[in-house]
Amino acid sequence: MLKELESDSLREECGVFGIYNNTDAATLTYFGLNALQHRGQEGAGIIVSDGKKLWGHRALGLVADAFPERIMEQLRFNSNNAIGHVRYSTSGGNSFANVQPFLIHSNEGYFAIAHNGNLVNAQQLRLSLENKGSIFQSTSDTEVVTHLIRHSKAETDLEQITEAVSQVVGAFSFVILTEKALYAVVDAYGFRPLSLGQTENGSYVLASETCALDVVGANFIRDIKPGEIVEISSNGIASYQFAEPKPAKCSMEYLYFAQPNSIIDDVSVYNARRRMGEKLWDDAPVDADVIIGVPESGSLVAMGMGRKSGIPVERGLIKNRYIGRTFIQPTQELRDNAVRLKLSVVKHLIQNKRVIVVDDSIVRGTTSKKIVKLLRDAGAKEVHFRSAAPPIISPCFYGINTSTKEELLAAGKTLEEMREYMNVDSLAFLSVESMIEAVSRNYEGKLKGQCVACFTGNYPTELFDDMLAFQEKC
Ligand code: SF4
Repeated sequence: MLKELESDSLREECGVFGIYNNTDAATLTYFGLNALQHRGQEGAGIIVSDGKKLWGHRALGLVADAFPERIMEQLRFNSNNAIGHVRYSTSGGNSFANVQPFLIHSNEGYFAIAHNGNLVNAQQLRLSLENKGSIFQSTSDTEVVTHLIRHSKAETDLEQITEAVSQVVGAFSFVILTEKALYAVVDAYGFRPLSLGQTENGSYVLASETCALDVVGANFIRDIKPGEIVEISSNGIASYQFAEPKPAKCSMEYLYFAQPNSIIDDVSVYNARRRMGEKLWDDAPVDADVIIGVPESGSLVAMGMGRKSGIPVERGLIKNRYIGRTFIQPTQELRDNAVRLKLSVVKHLIQNKRVIVVDDSIVRGTTSKKIVKLLRDAGAKEVHFRSAAPPIISPCFYGINTSTKEELLAAGKTLEEMREYMNVDSLAFLSVESMIEAVSRNYEGKLKGQCVACFTGNYPTELFDDMLAFQEKC
């Protein structure tokens, strides 16, 4: 994505995948990672095992580029267990050293780990480990966990992993591969999704999203629960609770990150997004001729709003899907109009119309302002902007890149000031309560816990010194 647009959007965190006891483990992991590519495009890795040793490959870039056929041949050879990772750098940085899974080889054997999330006490743990002599190879928070596992004096792999993850705080969905077993671990809050499935021939599969289970032909069994470790081995599957569950699923997973065909905690992402549109209409109706969704995640919200309001929904904005990270840097003038390179307007749908434009969120507001200008330039009579996310007022510490507080439009401006800045006729956001309801509605009558910290500033976890300092700095 063009840098200018990228810095004004929420950015995906990571995706993990694992498979146990399947002669096609490497190939299915490749396909699984492809299905999770939307969660991270900076690097990818696959580690495989034949039950005695582990080996693998990691590279910067997209899955299809990272694993040419000659590499896949090496990964397929005799392997039957695998884990994989796609990375977006929310912690650490975009260097090869930070590409996962990390593979560790010690006197006690091999293990590999892949992480989706962000640890909030990684700095403290890292300092304490360094004081005890640990040498770090990367700047990634995940490496802290590898050292904690290696430092553990417990006897079994399961006990070592349990001891390690009991010390870390924050968001983590780990897949861990040892010579003998595959593990899934989710933090006590369950911030990031992790699902368990099974193929027709009985192989267990783990994936950040159910869309990756579908791609490899695995049937969904259940989600890994907050505070749970699942061990998959030749003895079958076993579950252990290492922490008391305090559910706080990231609500942005439903709105923005996950694929619409994924199901998280029994809630369809597709339906949740459409319900957000219905609720957004209830919260802020307005007379208009047409509703336009900003592709991709705004489109389903627009559909929900159209169903509720009866106003026609049109594809008035078309995304140029070939603008990627390798795009030649444009001139300054084009850079200022970067949104034109990414989105095109279907003029006749807009001209002389009162338009409601629906986006998933407003982060810094610069892109939203440019989209409004595109619509006005195309002849829109009125532009009413609707955000499917409530106003983002606080940074995320759990694996999502939301910009610093001072960059967030809603953190420093009133609704009227934002409306003026964006040059719209009206501006409205979904309320936090409506967002929670939109996600929870079909959850068998139970209101499960959701994290809404970036909208409220109330963080579900303990806050550590560096987080507090970051907030103050902002
Ligand atoms: S702070 Fe926001 S983006 Fe981060 S986990 Fe919570 S809801 Fe998700």
